[in-house]
Amino acid sequence: MTMPLRPDDGSFLAEVERLSEVPVSACFHCQKCANGCPVAYAMDIAPTVLIRLMQLGQRARVLQSETIWVCASCITCSTRCPNDIDLAHVMDTLRRMSIREGSVSLPHVRTFHEAFLNAIRTHGRVHELELVTRYKLKTMTFFEDMKLGQEMLLRGRMRFLPERIKGRKEVRDMLSPPPARSETKSAL
Ligand code: SF4
Ligand code: SF4
Repeated sequence: MTMPLRPDDGSFLAEVERLSEVPVSACFHCQKCANGCPVAYAMDIAPTVLIRLMQLGQRARVLQSETIWVCASCITCSTRCPNDIDLAHVMDTLRRMSIREGSVSLPHVRTFHEAFLNAIRTHGRVHELELVTRYKLKTMTFFEDMKLGQEMLLRGRMRFLPERIKGRKEVRDMLSPPPARSETKSAL
């Protein structure tokens, strides 16, 4: 039996809008974003349905969805929206909220995401070998993709030593986590 959707008091939508600074409530469901999304076929909830769920305050369904992790941040949806709704940025905000609240439904995705961000925090850019090593150690998947990794090393697609950029502090600041939910509530 399908459970009816019960709107909340609007706090979830307000929180998403405040953290992302995107007016999600202005969406008029024209579907242009979903029709242009190159990975919509792999999502468990279509982008426009996800927006509707946000408007209805379905916090758990949104933050536990696979969709927010399948999103490739390609920004196609944001450029197609006639209403200037930056859905790609909303997806990023939802990922951060999902991590903060322990709602990530795909544990390996979360592990990869954290390894990726940690590499960027350290070097200012990704060091693929370190990223893969951290990921493999956490997931104990040492033998998956081994052949691919060897080929990438042989072809110089993965460097043994990391490169560091200038302005690493600025990059770290950009990646700082959003405020805790309690802070968000008090600010509303
Ligand atoms: S393109 Fe914009 S207005 Fe249309 S459904 Fe997507 S987010 Fe909403
Ligand atoms: S940013 Fe994400 S949701 Fe938007 S079109 Fe690209 S993959 Fe789809």
